[in-house]
Amino acid sequence: MARINPHYKELQGSYLFSEIARRRTAFLKEHPDADIISLGIGDVTRPLPEAAASAMRAAVDDMTKAETFRGYGPEQGYDFLREAIARHDYQDRGIDIRADEVFVSDGSKCDVSNIQEIFSQDAVVAVQDPVYPVYVDTNVMAGRAGAYDKETNRYQGIVYLVCGRENGFKPALPERKVDLIYLCYPNNPTGMTLTRDELKRWVDYAKKNGSVILYDSAYEAYIREEGVPHSIYEIEGAREVAIEFRSFSKTAGFTGVRCAYTVVPRDLKAKDNDGNDVAIADLWNRRHTTKFNGVSYVTQRGAAALYTPEGKAQIAALVDYYMANAKLILDGLKSVGIEAYGGVNAPYIWLKTPEGIDSWAFFDKLLREAHIVGTPGVGFGQAGQGYFRLTAFGSRENTERAVERITKLGW
Ligand code: PLP
Repeated sequence: MARINPHYKELQGSYLFSEIARRRTAFLKEHPDADIISLGIGDVTRPLPEAAASAMRAAVDDMTKAETFRGYGPEQGYDFLREAIARHDYQDRGIDIRADEVFVSDGSKCDVSNIQEIFSQDAVVAVQDPVYPVYVDTNVMAGRAGAYDKETNRYQGIVYLVCGRENGFKPALPERKVDLIYLCYPNNPTGMTLTRDELKRWVDYAKKNGSVILYDSAYEAYIREEGVPHSIYEIEGAREVAIEFRSFSKTAGFTGVRCAYTVVPRDLKAKDNDGNDVAIADLWNRRHTTKFNGVSYVTQRGAAALYTPEGKAQIAALVDYYMANAKLILDGLKSVGIEAYGGVNAPYIWLKTPEGIDSWAFFDKLLREAHIVGTPGVGFGQAGQGYFRLTAFGSRENTERAVERITKLGW
């Protein structure tokens, strides 16, 4: 009889969203007429920018004519998209990234999941806590996480970088040497960012320790403040130590369309077992071409259209829309004395639950008293206990109604 990968048994159940659904359903059973507003999920609600939609329609037409039909495309992405990404997202901002260092994919979730498999089994992994759970679970599956400790809610083999209000949600450098460091900025779930100097400390650490930074920048488009780095490659030396992940999902309403990209600079090297330098880009290219057959031509045409002047203006309008929601939520929470973070350069608001109310108790209070569903912070890691995440991805109307309900509650 075939045996399973034993590490799958070390995965903890996807407790968070199933428990949210369970509590919501139970509440609706008791109160079938409750008009529940969800500010919990990280999915967008606004439709596709017209520039992308019309480029996709034209691309479908291409596919219907023998002269312009496309079958399998290059696994790394069509040049028209790789070049647009390299030029608009990097070179025009003075960042040295070339088109052949850009790998187009069908989502950052896949890329941040798959990247770990090109590193050694004994690589020591560091993650932020709270954290986007995919980084942890994929390393559990790969057998890198060690045993799960129920007392601490942590895997013994993973280095957790705590982000709480005591350190401004900015993790300290690891006390021990780590090989792979997952950093996410703007951060999901805390909505916080790093300054250039803070990011430089990570790049310097990685250079000194031979570590690789896996920099998830899925929410880059939401950065509004001057001076916040948009890319890790704005930091000198980052080409030698960092891989950057970006996605069109939250930027342009592509959560259902599916398109993202990963940047692997040619200067990034790691060691083989004989101590030789190996270019990570070669390994990622090998992996990508072996296991992936490319993003559809239609989708890539849609993504490329986001870099036209119309596309850029439509993205800016989308981001403005969600960030106006974020401001409403942030201002509403603050007006009733709730401590809240994020929401300025990110579509997430991370609030501190009032004294004596933990993440799940706050979830229940909000559901029962305001008919609002959010996400308990503890679901993102032990350091998220006592916090709660709200998202700005709802409609304006629902956001306004939710804020009104929250501010009317007695705090
Ligand atoms: N990275 C972070 C931090 C996210 O929050 C998400 C989605 O919620 C993703 C990656 C996945 O993005 P994609 O839709 O491109 O797979």
